[in-house]
Amino acid sequence: MKRIAAFVLSAILLSVLPLPSSDAQQIQVSSKLNPQIEKIVSEISAKNIEDIIRKLVSFGTRHTLSTQDDPKRGIGAAARWIKSEMDRYSQESGGRLQVANDEFIQPVTPRFPRETKLINIVATLPGTQAESKDRIYVVSGHYDSICSPFSDTECDAPGASDDASGTAAVMEMARVMSKYQFDATIVFMTVPGEEQGLLGAHHWAEEAKKKGLNIAAMFTNDIIGNTLGGNGVRDNRRVRLFSEGVPTTETEAEARARQSVGGENDGPSRQLARYIKEVGERYLNNFEVTLVYRRDRYGRGGDHNAFLQQGFPAVRFTEPNEDFTRQHQRVREENGIKYGDVFEMVDPAYVAQVARINAIAMASMALAPAPPSGVRFKTGRQEYDTTVAWQPNKEPDVAGYRIVWRETYQPFWLRSIEVGNVAEYVMKSLSKDDYFFAVQAVDKDGNASVTSFPRSGQGRR
Ligand SMILES: [Zn+2]
Repeated sequence: MKRIAAFVLSAILLSVLPLPSSDAQQIQVSSKLNPQIEKIVSEISAKNIEDIIRKLVSFGTRHTLSTQDDPKRGIGAAARWIKSEMDRYSQESGGRLQVANDEFIQPVTPRFPRETKLINIVATLPGTQAESKDRIYVVSGHYDSICSPFSDTECDAPGASDDASGTAAVMEMARVMSKYQFDATIVFMTVPGEEQGLLGAHHWAEEAKKKGLNIAAMFTNDIIGNTLGGNGVRDNRRVRLFSEGVPTTETEAEARARQSVGGENDGPSRQLARYIKEVGERYLNNFEVTLVYRRDRYGRGGDHNAFLQQGFPAVRFTEPNEDFTRQHQRVREENGIKYGDVFEMVDPAYVAQVARINAIAMASMALAPAPPSGVRFKTGRQEYDTTVAWQPNKEPDVAGYRIVWRETYQPFWLRSIEVGNVAEYVMKSLSKDDYFFAVQAVDKDGNASVTSFPRSGQGRR
């Protein structure tokens, strides 16, 4: 009831107030909640996440070049334990979650001194709708850790926030979500070699590209555990979400078209980031997803880069205030300062909130139809209305389409209209010269796809 009232109120405000520009005033394009997603949110457990992080820390080091044979210490023991836990989730799901080791031999690189077997642990929950099961969503964390100097494969590297936190979020999502059904396929992945050049992620993303897999989105969760920053700020109410605006794989022709009509702020990864914020905050109303309009922090990278390089939309979650005396450090105390990425710095309740945001967005996308393809403006001629057109979706449960729009200078979609089950629509008195438009497909239960932005160059004279 409260929600309906708020929605009506926001609709009224929308019609009489100037359009908002700040983050806090982002308008939600739908108020509908899916009961299945609400259950998933309630089942993600901070206690389970705490237990997983403690266990991962207990392996002493998870350096990618550490021992693979010791039963208790090193990356081999950690990988076997993650696999056994994922196998248990698979059993609990009645075998629907399919767990496999993606093993490969990593050759020597400037940052990786000896040929070594690496293992991505990959748990796949196949989609249940024929038209959607080839559409794949990937959520990942890296289970390797590192201390300084980076070449030391023996020193304690607890890697509690970097990145036992992300690994735990992915594992808890796999446990909870594998008890439910989704139209599209979800892959829960934990990877090694991130610290030596995103090795595990590169291998899997390259193979996916070679196999022609449709990776519709990828999230990496990397450093999502620490709520007290090195700057003294404590913040457990938000997470940063990094996304690139212009695609890494943009071609020269696409660049020329974009330079003509704009869209620097509207690449597929940016659409994905806006979607995560919109659906995530709709379910977790005491938590903010702070969008950062860049690929990653200065001089830093993450496993999403490996997917961006293959042309797949990908984003990165990271805590709001990092503590650099903790990351990649040898565990020690020096001049009264504690160094090392130890468990005590991690806030499991916070990690659970970030896992919930991930799960909400993953579930929303995997329940929804695919984003409409072929979105374009019907004509490039000068005119006072805008005709938006797209290819009809194939899924049998599509109920219709939603067009969203905003002024070109706004950071978020601010207005929306449900246009019914059609393949084109005339936006009266709105010129494509002055607004950005995008289209979502919506199913009978109200599950909406990520927004599709008109391809650069379409509608250009
Ligand atoms: Zn990391």
